[in-house]
Amino acid sequence: MRILITGGAGFLGSHLSERLLNEGHEVVCMDNFFTGRKANIVHLLENPYFELMRHDVVDPFKLEVDQIYNLACPASPVHYQHNPIKTTKTSVMGAINCLGLAKRVGARVFQASTSEVYGDPSVHPQPESYWGNVNTIGIRSCYDEGKRCAETLFFDYHRQNQVDIRVVRIFNTYGPRMLADDGRVVSNFIVQALQGRDITVYGEGQQTRSFCYVDDLIEGFIRLMNQEQVVGPMNIGNPGEFTILELAQKVIELTGSQSKIVYRPMPQDDPKQRKPDITQAREVLAWEPKVQLEAGLKKTIEYFAQHLKA
Ligand code: NAD
Ligand code: UDP
Repeated sequence: MRILITGGAGFLGSHLSERLLNEGHEVVCMDNFFTGRKANIVHLLENPYFELMRHDVVDPFKLEVDQIYNLACPASPVHYQHNPIKTTKTSVMGAINCLGLAKRVGARVFQASTSEVYGDPSVHPQPESYWGNVNTIGIRSCYDEGKRCAETLFFDYHRQNQVDIRVVRIFNTYGPRMLADDGRVVSNFIVQALQGRDITVYGEGQQTRSFCYVDDLIEGFIRLMNQEQVVGPMNIGNPGEFTILELAQKVIELTGSQSKIVYRPMPQDDPKQRKPDITQAREVLAWEPKVQLEAGLKKTIEYFAQHLKA
């Protein structure tokens, strides 16, 4: 198949590109390089089945493809809050452009949604049936509401135009090729530990997250995209739940760092707890994560140790 990946030069997009090329597909990678990097895909550029397109997903595009994965959107709070109006535009107009293309060419289209659609959840763990608790006017809203509106558009194109959709709700994912300075907690803590700097825990570090290793996530993407039973939305994530303080301690232990933990103010609207209910993924896709936190952190630490030296 010829497969379009928007945001293909980003953290998840580059892993997905690699996986689809390995399976014998042609990949068209579209990216505006806001948070993506050539370095993430430089090893793919020589592959004649890989095509790189510098383009903004907000502007319409015309291509002939069999499948579309819509991943274009900054994912780290630091980046999506940098230009919040652009973030909403990217989610909403990017979804419309992908769905319009899918409708024209009859392609199946996949949306990278997020656990952020649940906001600061009052139901724990979060099943797909939970509607969420999102502030419409806060500093995270550009991302959360943009992604919620994108889900709405996907389901309306599906109902109104019979577009063949798949929607995944991704929970915090980490691994090699995260940006060293993108502000997400796993990369922040590892880089701080490797450089012997203070580990910045926000609040008292009692908020929880569930961390999925990138290879497990990509396997879930491919399985959801290529099964016929359900369109989603489907949670994909690792249900192992850790406090941020536990994560900081684990990173210090695994790096053998002398770094000290310091406490910084909690950002506005930071969700207090997050853990996916993955019953659907287990039942429909026979999928569950295989890489536990310690093993995944070791691989990610190895990557950053190499990368920071270079
Ligand atoms: P990332 O920032 O590494 O990748 C996003 C990519 O999209 C980058 O290459 C960026 O340059 C590109 N992009 C941004 N705006 C664009 C635009 N207007 N036009 C074209 N390209 C644009 O982040 P990621 O972690 O790889 O996330 C990929 C997708 O998965 C995002 O949609 C994100 O919301 C979603 N997601 C990720 C996580 C996670 O934990 N990694 C969690 C939930 C959802
Ligand atoms: N966090 C932290 N220190 C950091 C970066 C993040 O304590 O240096 C916290 C943040 O407040 C949040 C959690 O770690 O509670 C996860 O943050 P991230 O930005 O990775 O993802 P998200 O909040 O979108 O889940």
